[in-house]
This record gives sequence, C-alpha cells and structure tokens, in this order.
Amino acid sequence: MKQILILGGGMGGLVVANELKKKLGKEHKIILIDKNSKHIFYPSFPWLMLGLRKPEKIQKPLELLRRKGIIFVNDKITKIEPEKKMVKTTRDEFSYDYLVISLGAELASEKIKSLSNSEYNLYQFEDVERLRDALRNFNGRKVAIVISSLPFKCPAAPYEAAFLLDYYFEKKGIRKEINLQIFTPETLPMPVAGQKIGEAIKQMLEERGIIFNPEKKINSIDGKNKIIMFENNQKVQYDMLIYVPHHKAPDVVKNSKLTGETGWIPVNAETLETNQKNIYAIGDINSIKLPDGKMLPKAGVFAHYQAEVVANNIASEIMGKNSLKEFKGDGLCFLEIGFGKAGFARGNFYAEKREINMKKPSRVWHLSKILFEKYWFWRYF
Ligand SMILES: Cc1cc2nc3c(=O)[nH]c(=O)nc-3n(C[C@H](O)[C@H](O)[C@H](O)COP(=O)(O)OP(=O)(O)OC[C@H]3O[C@@H](n4cnc5c(N)ncnc54)[C@H](O)[C@@H]3O)c2cc1C
Repeated sequence: MKQILILGGGMGGLVVANELKKKLGKEHKIILIDKNSKHIFYPSFPWLMLGLRKPEKIQKPLELLRRKGIIFVNDKITKIEPEKKMVKTTRDEFSYDYLVISLGAELASEKIKSLSNSEYNLYQFEDVERLRDALRNFNGRKVAIVISSLPFKCPAAPYEAAFLLDYYFEKKGIRKEINLQIFTPETLPMPVAGQKIGEAIKQMLEERGIIFNPEKKINSIDGKNKIIMFENNQKVQYDMLIYVPHHKAPDVVKNSKLTGETGWIPVNAETLETNQKNIYAIGDINSIKLPDGKMLPKAGVFAHYQAEVVANNIASEIMGKNSLKEFKGDGLCFLEIGFGKAGFARGNFYAEKREINMKKPSRVWHLSKILFEKYWFWRYF
C-alpha cells in the first residue's frame, strides 16, 4: 500500500485528492492536510462582494471528503522534510511515498505600512463580507482599488471587482457621483495575456468611466486621513480603499528548502515534479517560466489542470501503467463585467508566440461561470 500526502485543500489539492482516489480505489491511502476546515471557491468572491452569494454557498467542509475515502486532517503543517520523507503538523507527523504540495500563496497584508481595519482585502473572506456590508451604506465618493505587488493570483480578479462595482453603483443610481479608480504596478491589465487583451480591457475600463492608473506602486497608507502614498510621492485621497495584498510562499514551504530564487517552488513545467524525488508542487505555490521570460500566472485553472496531470502520473506509476500525461500550459478565464455579462479568454501559455483570445462579453459566459461554480462543488464533494 502506498501513502500519498496532499498538502492543502484548495483548488489544486482538492482536485488531486479526488482524481487519485478515483484512480487508486481503496488499496492506497490518500491523506489531505489543511489548516482550514473548509474549501473556499474564490472565483465567487466578486459575487459575494455584491451580496449575490451567501457565504455558505461558496465553501464546503473538507471533512466531507471522508465519504469518498479520502482522509482529511485539519491541522497546520509546520515542517516538510524531504530527506526523511516526513511532514509534521502541530499535532502529528506523516510519512509518505508521494507528496503533492498545493499550499497556495499566503497573503501578506502587513507589507503595506499602516493598514488599519477600515480598508478591505479583496482576497480575504471576512473582508469581502465587510466590504459587502459597507457598500450598502456607502455615501462617500472616492473608491480606490489598489494592486499592491506582482505576482498576484487571478490577474482578472481586481478588474472584475472594478467592473462589478461600476455596475453596482449604476444600479443604485449613484454612479455619476463616484470616482472609481484602479492603481496597479502593471503596465496594462493582465499583461501576461498579451498587449491585445490588455488594451481591450483598458478600453472597456475607460468606456465605463473607471480610471486606470498603471505603474503605480503603493508605499503606505495614512488611514487616519484616508490617503494612499505611492512610491513616487504621489498621494491619493480615498473614501473606500479595496486592495489586493502582497503574496508570498507560506513559511513552511520557504523553510523546506524547496523554493528557488523567485521565492516559489521551481518545477518541471510539464510534469510538475520538484527537484526532490516523488515530490510535486502544483498551483500558486510553484513557479514556471514561460518562453518569453514571464511567469505562468497564479490561477485556479492552472492548479486544476496541473492536479489532473499529477494525479494521473502518480496513479500510473503506482499501478505500473505507462500512461503518463503532461501539463501543456492551456488556460482559460472568465471576466465578469456586470449587467449579467462576462468575457472569456483562453489560450496556450507555453506557446513560443503566446496568443490568448478573448470572446466578446456576453450573457453566455456569465451563465457559464455560474454553471462552473455549481459543477465544481458537485464534482469534487
Ligand atoms: C478573489 C479571487 C478570485 C479568483 N478567481 C479566479 C478565477 O475566476 N479563475 C481562476 O482560475 N482563479 C481564480 N482565483 C485564483 C485561485 O483561487 C487560486 O489560483 C487557486 O485557489 C490556487 O489553488 P492552490 O491549490 O494552489 O492554492 P489555494 O487554493 O490557495 O489552497 C491552498 C491551501 O493550503 C492551505 N495551507 C496553506 N498553508 C498551510 C499550512 N501551513 N498548513 C495547512 N494548510 C495550509 C490553505 O489553507 C489553503 O486551503 C481567484 C482568487 C481570488 C482571491
């Protein structure tokens, strides 16, 4: 019997656990460890922000995986020891034959100096709920969305938030009074998707009266006077500040010596193997360099597809089959824009000449994202 440890029950960990169980049946042991007791479906956050989703509808207890025969351990991982083939948690330790690390990116809000409790982290559950409540009573004028640093997961998410806020204020009949701005260190929205898509989204922002401020790096916040300080000494006043925090690898990964110079885990781009035998790293925690030198973005779609490849290859090796698969770099992304519409981009990120195409925003893509949310919980729980 082989023991496979999966670290993290987010998008990558959930898929790899399910796929492995399906392929390996009862004969092998699959253990998934997460410090959170629930799996959260982050793509629904923009809807949570507008009150279009109840919090309980976009998360599920990982304990439910036991029904499928997957062992769930709700504990914090404190040490990964490849040389001993051992993982420690606060209460226990686990040996493994195969290890899949899907610990994601940790949010480091503390890197913005002087943040207080009156700003909103767009990537954190409780803050998005607070933001939803604050929006209901909002009577200010200046709304700023700030992207703190690169890389950040889901390059589309802050732009979705901007479009949906525009839609929300419009519906409330107060849009004309609101100054809605987005500040980012990027040169264009979603630059890894290419110039054409970046320009198209920039134009859509302009048409909706959302002011796009590229190449802006935040330095600190003066919460008392509600001022954002940028690195070039530019100061911007706000009434509501929504931010995407800095991202970093969790300490347990940094201390494992698996990370490379980027601070993330370098992997084989096709097989997701790390430089340690039988250890794989998938999703936001890994770093993959693309042919043009840019990095593969951190997004659930990649965690998902990489998980399928890794599960297939581990199962195939255990069962002595010769049916290995490769992650080919395909990705897709919905872009909610409000008014019941979404755009849809898809393409291959490993291509020498990357070409990502975006379909015109329509109701079809909005409904597709709703269906995908339903499918996710049905398929993996
Ligand atoms: C607002 C928002 C919207 C998004 N929308 C989209 C979208 O539309 N499409 C898309 O493709 N992507 C989207 N994403 C990105 C997507 O959610 C992530 O890329 C994806 O979740 C990455 O999966 P992962 O398994 O690598 O990490 P995660 O899903 O982050 O999972 C990591 C898990 O590891 C656990 N963990 C971390 N450290 C420890 C520890 N020491 N001990 C125990 N457990 C630990 C965490 O609790 C977590 O459950 C969005 C993200 C956000 C924030």
